[in-house]
Amino acid sequence: MVDRTERISEENIQRQRDFADKVRTVISALASERGRLYKFRVVTYGCQQNEADSERLAGMLSSMGYEKAQSEADADLILVNTCAVREHAEIRALSVTGQYKHLKERDPELIIGVCGCMVSQEHRLDDIKHRYPYVDFAFGTSYLWKLPEILYTKLTNKKRMFLPDADADGNIAENIPVMRESSYRAWLSVMYGCNNFCTYCVVPHVRGRERSRYKEDIIAEAGKLIADGVKDITLLGQNVNSYGKGLYEGYGFPELLEEIASLDGDFTLRFMTSHPKDATERLIDVMARNEKIAPQLHLPLQSGSDRVLEMMNRRYTLDSYIRLVDYAREKIPGLTLTSDIMVGFPGETEEDFEDTLSALSRIKYDMVFSFIYSRRRNTPAAERPDQIPEDVKGERFRRMLALQSDIGLEINRGYVGKTVRVLCDGASKNDPDMLAGRTDGGKNICFKGSCPEGGYTYVKITDARPFVLMGEESVG
Ligand code: SAH
Ligand code: SF4
Repeated sequence: MVDRTERISEENIQRQRDFADKVRTVISALASERGRLYKFRVVTYGCQQNEADSERLAGMLSSMGYEKAQSEADADLILVNTCAVREHAEIRALSVTGQYKHLKERDPELIIGVCGCMVSQEHRLDDIKHRYPYVDFAFGTSYLWKLPEILYTKLTNKKRMFLPDADADGNIAENIPVMRESSYRAWLSVMYGCNNFCTYCVVPHVRGRERSRYKEDIIAEAGKLIADGVKDITLLGQNVNSYGKGLYEGYGFPELLEEIASLDGDFTLRFMTSHPKDATERLIDVMARNEKIAPQLHLPLQSGSDRVLEMMNRRYTLDSYIRLVDYAREKIPGLTLTSDIMVGFPGETEEDFEDTLSALSRIKYDMVFSFIYSRRRNTPAAERPDQIPEDVKGERFRRMLALQSDIGLEINRGYVGKTVRVLCDGASKNDPDMLAGRTDGGKNICFKGSCPEGGYTYVKITDARPFVLMGEESVG
């Protein structure tokens, strides 16, 4: 039985467009009263999914007549889109929100909203409500599409609003306006939420149950991006490999990926994240035979110890993981392989940690996103009595970084002398005389040259660092 995911009805989406029109009327009256434009600033923390959400928040705000502000100090509306994956991310969002108090004192008409994963947790929603009296409203991830109604209510009745996620409709909202940060790279969400309940992770609690978008909606959005000249599309989901479950029979992520890759146009397709328990040889085969799919796989291992993987409820073993990696490397020459690794999960022994180090040495990732375990409320791992002391976690973290830095450097040195295709992202942030970009495999590269931002070029690699390749544009 296929239990179809519901879309939010067109009637309800239209209702939000009507609210957006009403906000626009209020805003334009206020703007002409003050003799200037009304501006918004969306401040984003966390993962690519949050960045994609922020582009929709910005799209809705623009449809309501707000212009984009250059800074928070210049804004009439600030929206903080928060993350909850680690405590550190929450503390940063809270402290930044705290700094806006002064802006509100300077301009009492300033509207401040907090949204996203952190405030999908009721205790954080309460924190914001009681400890940040200058915050006007807060809402969790499932309310995103109702921003026009929330803003209209705020502008007209002036009351503060704090909306618990439990009261929201978690279905999929299509046809929300979007204002993309880049004209040539784009995120494309294929599904939302997660059902995996890894024992350390708050995501299923704050983003709700797993639900896939209809393939027709995704393919139409991809087609539009390509027609608009987007060259690099990243398909997003917490576990893209469970795409289509509960929606289709016999049509999953590999099929979706191949269908998008078969669209006409000059573009590259990437995706994240792949949960190793659901990534299949079929997925790898689709990647291998489609030129438009980047030779890049982000496959988070988390730990090299089967004992820890089991405590994490990851549902694969190091052996099965390595078998898949070996298959992928055999089928996809030049594959860039990246991972997420966590140290200090409760109960992790020195021996378990050393298993992770030897897994890193054996697998040799191009890059690792490393995390120190952070205790998250309402997750089973947080209740365990065998939490690892902070100093031990810190020491393991440093040892892991040092090892991975050597591995990254060794891999990058293997590129010296080669010429690779690069999509240019303009001037490098670290050195304005250099350009920055990404290879087809998604590796960071810094190079001398004159390629315009958003253009493809070829770069000869002249030097290697642990996290970046260095090179010169090769002419002709
Ligand atoms: N859905 C993705 C991960 C999303 S969260 C996947 O399963 O791969 C991104 C990363 O944050 C995770 O891979 C994990 O390494 C890290 N993470 C999640 N919860 C964490 C926690 N409580 N403490 C530290 N790191 C965490
Ligand atoms: Fe979190 Fe695990 Fe879901 Fe990833 S798969 S979002 S780590 S619960």
